[in-house]
Amino acid sequence: MKVVDLHCHSTISDGLLPPAEVVRRAVTNGVDLLALTDHDDVAGLGEARATAEELGLAFLDGAELSVSWRDTTIHIVGLRLTPDHPALLAGLAALRAGRDSRAERIATALEKAGIPGALEGALRHAKNATIVGRAHFARYLVEQGVASDVKSVFDHYLVAGKPGYVPHHWITLNEALNLIHGAGGVAVIAHPIRYRISRSALREFIAEFKERGGAAMEVACGAHTPEHIRECAALARHFGLKASSASDFHGPGESYADLGRVPTMPDGLVPIWKELV
Ligand code: AMP
Ligand code: MN
Ligand code: MN
Ligand code: MN
Repeated sequence: MKVVDLHCHSTISDGLLPPAEVVRRAVTNGVDLLALTDHDDVAGLGEARATAEELGLAFLDGAELSVSWRDTTIHIVGLRLTPDHPALLAGLAALRAGRDSRAERIATALEKAGIPGALEGALRHAKNATIVGRAHFARYLVEQGVASDVKSVFDHYLVAGKPGYVPHHWITLNEALNLIHGAGGVAVIAHPIRYRISRSALREFIAEFKERGGAAMEVACGAHTPEHIRECAALARHFGLKASSASDFHGPGESYADLGRVPTMPDGLVPIWKELV
């Protein structure tokens, strides 16, 4: 069995390791095929690919795009993208610009909740990143002693209904699929069970994604329980989607799963990577 990991992050977005270090760690962990999928950016792919080639690791160019669907943020991973495709670059630049203004609103909200200096603090943690995200705010809040770890900062400050959460419009599902398909990529629903939507809404989303040419969903996912994985497998079979394998690694000590430490793929599914390598 090959070890396939098609979802992880570097310091280009909210990961803790630079792209080359992510690739080295993947090799150390026995990964056979890796995709780097930073949030809303492709800036780490050159370094990652060069390192992968040096070390003989099969590598796919990827990105994880932020999408607004109804009132929910959903993440769509694009794989085997052409990283310098002009429309993709423009779309990602617009997503990042939206992040900048969202970051200002998050900082204002935190200030009102009695936590000053959050924009500067988050930007300090994002110093190698071309995006600023909630994970950077979370690291600042941990540093300030507001909560003991990143996970509890999210639970108490950075999710809907909590003081540091602000609504944000990303791009539509259609726009994300056009960017990914326009750049020659395939689209994959990231960590399907992690969204704050009902199961019936999730099914509606998956149906829409499939109808618009989406290819796959993550099934063997580091962030999923065994029960979630069984559920995703059933959904993938039902909707005729292929299956992906993903750690969603962000850094040592800050992730559900380390690189390549992905659960076993259930039987009866078509792996998305067969058509990509
Ligand atoms: P953003 O795209 O800026 O809204 O941030 C989303 C990122 O925040 C995810 O990719 C994770 O890295 C992190 N994140 C979201 N929810 C949690 C959580 N409950 N615990 C830890 N990290 C989280
Ligand atoms: Mn992240
Ligand atoms: Mn995600
Ligand atoms: Mn991710």
